[in-house]
Amino acid sequence: MPRKARKLDVACPNSMCSMHNKVGKLNIIRKGSQTNGTKRYQCTNCGRTFARTINTPFFHKHLKKKEIIRICKMLSETNSFRGIARQTDHHLDTIRAIADAIAKHCKKFNDYFIDELKLTPVEVDEMWSFVKKKKDIA
Ligand SMILES: [Zn+2]
Repeated sequence: MPRKARKLDVACPNSMCSMHNKVGKLNIIRKGSQTNGTKRYQCTNCGRTFARTINTPFFHKHLKKKEIIRICKMLSETNSFRGIARQTDHHLDTIRAIADAIAKHCKKFNDYFIDELKLTPVEVDEMWSFVKKKKDIA
């Protein structure tokens, strides 16, 4: 069954708003994108519009988006960590760190993977199940 409706995991940044920092309350609507592709949102409670600032320090530290997409897709195709490291020329620790970050933040990155990295929900699901399965034994 494909899941369509997703609660947005963004919260209103306006500290004067009664919905400030409350996630999943359905008060946030999509408001298109900026020219650089950053998604914009609006809080229907206070009317504030804002850009998405998803906290993904890890993902932008060392790797280009293209590489992250490639690694995520490989994770979803159930390659081994070692195999992915070999094929991408990244250190095994790098691949493990990515898998670890994914496992840790899990559903929080749902929108990030699907909207920003253009993975399909199925690929994201497969990536998670692989990461969780492998985490302890790899
Ligand atoms: Zn608000």
